[in-house]
Amino acid sequence: MTFDVHDSEAVELHRRNHRLDPHVIRKFRNSLLRKFEADDSALSHLPETMNVQLHSLSVKHRMDSALDGATRLLLQTSTSHVIECVILRIASGRSTICVSSQVGCAAACDFCATGKLGIAKNLAVREILDQVVLGGQILTNEGRRLDNIVFMGMGEPFHNSRAVTDAIRKLTDRDLFARSPASILVSTVGIPEKMTEFAETLPGVNLALSLHSADSEKRRTLIPLESKHPLKDLHEAIRQVNQLQGRPLMIEYLMLDGVNDSHDAANQLIRWVQGLNIRFNLIPFNAIEDAPHLMCSPREAIDRFAQQLREAGYQTTVRYSLGADIAAACGQLARTLQPVQDQQNSIASAD
Ligand code: SAH
Repeated sequence: MTFDVHDSEAVELHRRNHRLDPHVIRKFRNSLLRKFEADDSALSHLPETMNVQLHSLSVKHRMDSALDGATRLLLQTSTSHVIECVILRIASGRSTICVSSQVGCAAACDFCATGKLGIAKNLAVREILDQVVLGGQILTNEGRRLDNIVFMGMGEPFHNSRAVTDAIRKLTDRDLFARSPASILVSTVGIPEKMTEFAETLPGVNLALSLHSADSEKRRTLIPLESKHPLKDLHEAIRQVNQLQGRPLMIEYLMLDGVNDSHDAANQLIRWVQGLNIRFNLIPFNAIEDAPHLMCSPREAIDRFAQQLREAGYQTTVRYSLGADIAAACGQLARTLQPVQDQQNSIASAD
């Protein structure tokens, strides 16, 4: 009988049945979950009769950027859904994996290709973890190390908060992936009670909030969930998260030409964050086919906006997008690969 490598109880049961010493399992886990060695190397630690399933996803397609160190993986679940996972090799030698938490997304943000999928299916803990293993194995094979894991792929992590929390527990478990909480970042569209709950449960893990506008009406046109979870509730949530974490929370701010990038918009943003412990990450918008009305702010506008925030005393970085040549397919490509019945009946399973 096969069992999943991330099912700790099953692993322990099979260890006993095979009368294996615990250190055999430790070596096997170290090999797969910490060193991200190839499947064969990991399995060589176990008796051949032990039918452990190492992966719950299969690599359907791999795209390597011709411009820089980005790799986009299209991964297929056992139900034939396709998700994306991106490996970012940063020039400094560091590497980050960007993982998905759902197939599609129910948040339906105007600027996001995944939101246009119109479906949301939660990924299981093992499917979240396997993205890390598969990405990690690619990096190990190149002699690189995995430094950071960000939940910025497809989906809204807090619409699948139980699986995301359980996955992060395993990622930070010393007997499993043994990663530091500070090397993990969860980005959310902004679900106040889930943000505080998460910071209570895993205070060491970093949180990022996709704000994109400090004007409630404008934010609502970009992010429909603003109606349900308005800015004032998010402000209070950040205050509470600050108290629990004691360090700056990241505010992500998409730079959209003529929409939210003016001098006044920056001033409004500065007023809104007053009293909060935050840092800004400005994101140049990647144009998507389904939102032809949106364009990225010009470079000078982004620099000016950043300067204004810095002058107000806030640490501000501009995200340099990697993989511009393969990012054009972001979300949109995955859509063409979803099972047909899901494309026909769009569901929104947000809680
Ligand atoms: N649902 C989560 C995480 C996934 S999106 C969230 O909303 O934060 C990760 C980040 O990418 C978010 O800040 C999101 O707003 C941003 N994003 C979405 N579409 C984008 C696009 N076309 N160009 C640039 N950033 C985008």
